[in-house]
Order: sequence, then structure tokens, then C-alpha cells
Amino acid sequence: MSPQGWDLIFRRALNDWEVDRVAGLLHTLNAFLGVTESPDTPIWKMHKKGIFSLKFCYWSLNSNQAMEMEWPWKLIWKIKVPHKVSGFIWLAIRKACLTHEVLQRRGIQICSRCFMCGEEAEVNSHLFLHCRTTANLWDMFLCILGVNWVMPKITLELLRQWEGVGRRRRSKEDWWKCIPACIWWTLWKERNERSHDGKLNSTQKIKMNSLSLLYFWCKQDLAGEVASLVDFKAQL
Ligand SMILES: [Zn+2]
Repeated sequence: MSPQGWDLIFRRALNDWEVDRVAGLLHTLNAFLGVTESPDTPIWKMHKKGIFSLKFCYWSLNSNQAMEMEWPWKLIWKIKVPHKVSGFIWLAIRKACLTHEVLQRRGIQICSRCFMCGEEAEVNSHLFLHCRTTANLWDMFLCILGVNWVMPKITLELLRQWEGVGRRRRSKEDWWKCIPACIWWTLWKERNERSHDGKLNSTQKIKMNSLSLLYFWCKQDLAGEVASLVDFKAQL
């Protein structure tokens, strides 16, 4: 009988070559803590308490730290924006949101043209970084921040470099973290309105929309301090 109460009775005597296998089986059974009266529960072995959490799973999968250092997850998942926007930012830097570039890659025949400027093909980096309408938005926020900036080639690189913008700012202020999300979400909504509904806002209106969006996202933090969008812009 094993210490856990296992009492194995075999129908025949063991052969020599079977003894090691039975010893292995008993060894495995010994590791079993025994049946308790509490209900069965799933145990996740990677956590010392057996509890599964998405956060711990993420860290376990990135245990080599390299990906964690390079992937700008804080500017995606830790900013105070709606989850659907975070999801969209994640898609944008993975070049997976459905621009003409992606649709063509999926085999859809389409004559690609940027909805914002009408001059170049709609590829991820053009729409979110280099289009002249997009550049207007970036310039507005960079001017507010007082930052000199060289636009990188790809969206992922932008988000990686954006961390550097905050190093000179007071730790309490974190609205600047939402700016890439604010610009990209504003552009994407405008782009879809132009694409699906044929509506077209002026560049000035798009800039106002992005400021309003940032104000809306930050409003809860600033409640009581900022009464209006004009006050908000003055405080940035
Ligand atoms: Zn364009």
C-alpha cells in the first residue's frame, strides 16, 4: 500500500521487465495528494497558488523580457482609453487593421487610394504617420507638447519612441500617452466615414475632433479642474 492509500492488486505476478514500470506508477501516485471532500477545481501549474490570471500568463509567455522591452504594451493597454481603442491600436501597430494594404494582401482586388489625401496608396504607415492630413494632427499635438520630432517609418516604431516624450514631463501628467491612440482613432473614424458614408470633414474639423476626443478621455481625471474644451486646451 502506498502512503496515499493506494492498494494495488494485480491479477497475476509481475514479470521482471514490468517491475520498473509499476515502480514508476507508484512513484506517480505518491505525488498525488489524495482525495479531499472539497469540490474539484482546475489548477494552473505556472502560478504558485494554482490560480490562472491573464496578467501572469502574459508575463510567463514573455519571460525572456526581450519582447516586453521592445513591445510598447504600456501605451496600448495601460492608457485610459476604451478597450476597443486599445484593441485597435494593437491592430494598427501590427499592420492588421483593414487598410487597402491589408485587403490587397488578402487577395481582394482594389485600386488603393488614401481617403484622406487621395494622392497615395492607403498603406498603414501612410495613413497613420505620413499622410499630409495625418501630419497636421501630429504637428498640432507635437506643438502643444513642445517636442521636436522626426516621424519614424512605421507605427510600431512610433509607439516605441513615444515613451521618450514623457520623460521630461511630470509623472502626474499622463494625457500625452493617449495622443497616438487619439490621433489614430480619429483618423480611422474619419477614414471610415469617407469610405462608407461619403462624408468628409475639413482638416480643421478633424483636428477639433481629435482634441475633443482627448478631452473626453481625460475628463474624468481632470474633473473639477477643467470646465471646458477651451480650458483643457489651455492646460495642455
Ligand atoms: Zn494620404
